[in-house]
Amino acid sequence: MTTAPAKKSPKTTATKNGAHAKAPEGNSIIKEVGLPEDPNNLYTQTVSTMLHAADVMGLPHYLRLILAQPKNEIMVHFPVQMDDGKFRLFKGYRVQHNNALGPYKGGLRFHHDVHLDDVKSLAFLMTMKCSLVGVPYGGGKGGIKVNPREHSKSEMEGIVRRFTTAIAHNIGPDYDIPAPDVGSNSQHMAWIADTFSFLSEIGGDNPAAVITGKPIEYGGSLGREKATGQGVVDTLVEMLPELKLKPEKCTFSVLGFGNVGSWSGKIFQDKGAKMTAVADHTGFIINDKGIDAHDLAEYVKAKGGVAGYPKASKCSKDDFYKHRVDVFIPAALEQMIQEPEAKMLNCKVVAEGANAPTTPAGERVLASRGIEILPAILCNAGGVTVSYFEWVQNKTFQSWDLEKVDAELNKHMVRAAQKTRAAREKYKCDLRTAAYIAALERLKQAYEVRGIFP
Ligand code: NAD
Repeated sequence: MTTAPAKKSPKTTATKNGAHAKAPEGNSIIKEVGLPEDPNNLYTQTVSTMLHAADVMGLPHYLRLILAQPKNEIMVHFPVQMDDGKFRLFKGYRVQHNNALGPYKGGLRFHHDVHLDDVKSLAFLMTMKCSLVGVPYGGGKGGIKVNPREHSKSEMEGIVRRFTTAIAHNIGPDYDIPAPDVGSNSQHMAWIADTFSFLSEIGGDNPAAVITGKPIEYGGSLGREKATGQGVVDTLVEMLPELKLKPEKCTFSVLGFGNVGSWSGKIFQDKGAKMTAVADHTGFIINDKGIDAHDLAEYVKAKGGVAGYPKASKCSKDDFYKHRVDVFIPAALEQMIQEPEAKMLNCKVVAEGANAPTTPAGERVLASRGIEILPAILCNAGGVTVSYFEWVQNKTFQSWDLEKVDAELNKHMVRAAQKTRAAREKYKCDLRTAAYIAALERLKQAYEVRGIFP
């Protein structure tokens, strides 16, 4: 990933403030299933978070084992002809982590630096997220090692369609349903649905339901594009009052101004909050008087990034992180808030729009500084929730209006927040541990009634 270089984090065990990291060496499951013992490894960090929650709630050993590894890890290589007539070989992934609660579900990342460990971590997080937010799905994730910005539309179409044929026998509307993630968009989803439909012998009755995040014109749902940002703001509105913050009075900054960052910014601003600093892969900008999120989103669409935006000043990375705001929304990639960034942050709340943006070492610093974290499996669950609504509409040949989508989404987000709060109350733990406990409770109940066959 294009994240800051991994820093050595201290090999501490669980902390008194509830920060979730455990030294992998001290954790028998990590050894038992043969995970890397490097504390900077993203998958080990992700599983350690779950294992900490498992310790707090007393999750049976067999469930810890099952959840510590994905069920299937699929890796494919496929050739695609480029515009100049030459062939290039691409690498793609689909990881299916768990399907105890329903079909595998999770996005496809198109990024030049995507690795199996990232995809495994993201698939794992989908299992937790789907369980927490109460949709009937398990967790999966996939990706292609490609930089979409380097390819023409016709090359991308070839790459996406060849990838779809390579994994077609491993996905399906009732088995594994991908969606967009970093670098992929609704046009890519349309090509996947079309390619899958063309393979009629495996397409079934309703092949377009194999993927969500499609364009509205081709089976997509109203409200899906903004859903993750909407869910971030629904979570903020639900959780900020207990932190004595009024959403309409908040200032905020955003790291990553793509789908999640820009929609979080626009919707939070529409509630009255003021965005004062933004960063993406092109640079850092700041304006204490406010940066109009709608205007900036148009600029980014036209120019490809926030750099050069004329109604704000360019600033350094340090100025961006040290900028005083009420809410900081990371909405870029994993592991971006490490110890140094956590020391610089000058906010009251971190609302995790991105998946796994905070490392355990970063989290310990935030906790020691009294900064609350709204964890990703709660905060960014809006996307998969509206993906579920899209799938339900496809399967039942319905089309919901936006009011219904938004209202149903809000119900799911509020319920997930309440479950998280209830677990925090019961186990006297931090919000991240509580969100994992709430997710693990549902998985535990499903395994108890299903059993393990044979
Ligand atoms: P996107 O591709 O639309 O946007 C990614 C943003 O991150 C871009 O603004 C890019 O410039 C920025 N970025 C990339 N590298 C960076 C760097 N090194 N420094 C600063 N900024 C950088 O992706 P997205 O769909 O908005 O996803 C963002 C995050 O949200 C990811 O963690 C993703 O897994 C998560 N997420 C996405 C959805 C969804 O529905 N799209 C749902 C849940 C979670």
